Amino acid sequence: MARLLKEKLRDDVRVTVVDKKNMHLFPPSLIWVMTGEKEPDDIMAPLEGLRRHGIEFIQAEVKAIDPDNRRVDTSRGSLEYDYLVVALGSEPRPELMDADDTVCAPWTVSGALKCRELLSRVRGKSKVLVGAWSWPYKCPPAPFEAAFILKYLFSAVRGVPVEVTVAHFWQKPMEPFGPKMVSAFEAFLDRYGVEFRGGLRVVRARGGVAEFEGGEKLEYDVGVFAPPHTPPKPVAESPLASEKLGGYMEVDKVTLRHPKYREVFGVGDIISPSLGIGMAGVFAHFEGEYVATQIVDEIRGVYSGSDYNRSGICVMDLGFVGAAVYCDFADKIMGRSEYPDCAILGGMKAFRVFKYAFERLWFARWL
Ligand SMILES: Cc1cc2nc3c(=O)[nH]c(=O)nc-3n(C[C@H](O)[C@H](O)[C@H](O)COP(=O)(O)OP(=O)(O)OC[C@H]3O[C@@H](n4cnc5c(N)ncnc54)[C@H](O)[C@@H]3O)c2cc1C
Repeated sequence: MARLLKEKLRDDVRVTVVDKKNMHLFPPSLIWVMTGEKEPDDIMAPLEGLRRHGIEFIQAEVKAIDPDNRRVDTSRGSLEYDYLVVALGSEPRPELMDADDTVCAPWTVSGALKCRELLSRVRGKSKVLVGAWSWPYKCPPAPFEAAFILKYLFSAVRGVPVEVTVAHFWQKPMEPFGPKMVSAFEAFLDRYGVEFRGGLRVVRARGGVAEFEGGEKLEYDVGVFAPPHTPPKPVAESPLASEKLGGYMEVDKVTLRHPKYREVFGVGDIISPSLGIGMAGVFAHFEGEYVATQIVDEIRGVYSGSDYNRSGICVMDLGFVGAAVYCDFADKIMGRSEYPDCAILGGMKAFRVFKYAFERLWFARWL
């Protein structure tokens, strides 16, 4: 969004990006850090790169957002704005899991490296349990993608008899995406020999035993979980947060502006609960393009760029093959339909290549 604004408005605008980290992470590739196909520095790029494009980058922690006074307080001073775009994401919080060191959560770089270490010890008959601790979590299909890639790693690469089970609070695989996706994922599970246990809410995973609400227990050697997520504090504690959304930011579903503070937009995971959709980078991407379009239109009085593309495309590396899921969320977001309108493309090896290529394209285009 910062790049698009600067490209369209040039010297009419001063664009500042504030991030507490100095590196931009591409999280879809964390799964490859877990399996060892990539190292952490392969999937990051310095945010400093934005400066080449005339964008100011300040590495600082946002401490507070004060929309009444159009001010953001950071660890390196306060900033004023005409427009604010909040894109602080959702924080993976593995420390909130009641779990010991038999469990890892590849939703962060350190979590992915911990998974790699635990999984590297799996050399004989074992059980790997993959699950999601609570909702919301980033990338709803990711636990399934992780399960397939692990099954591939053990059966096709290491040749060891490892049982891989997905235990999820959904009754059926990918349930909120509708019947078409459920059957597509059931077919993948069946084909690649991954077991699915639905309707299970995990409460504890220690010493190789996962316990679920209602008392059910499953034994495992390694547990791989999507951890609990929380909204970042400066948003949760600001007037932008909504209590009914658990502290995430509320936006108008058509404009992505805050309903009260019209010069404040939200993009990405921070607004996914408000839109009633899962957290995915593809949504953040299209939302960013649309917000840039609106700001350019407001400043220049000309339409430029994109309308709001409410579709999601997720390309998954299932190990054995790649697959792509395309869903149009327009009717779901606007409350006209219970499910998004989805199609599954795949599985073909070609989609694995596409996933690799997209990561490279992402860094080349934006940083
Ligand atoms: C394992 C995994 C696999 C995934 N796979 C896919 C996929 O295949 N396809 C897909 O579309 N999506 C995928 N996603 C989801 C996708 O990565 C996220 O939805 C996307 O990154 C959200 O973008 P965002 O800008 O909202 O938040 P983020 O990418 O989390 O960025 C938020 C930024 O805000 C910064 N920040 C946070 N708090 C502060 C603060 N107080 N002060 C300053 N800076 C702060 C952070 O440092 C960060 O750089 C995956 C995620 C994971 C974890």
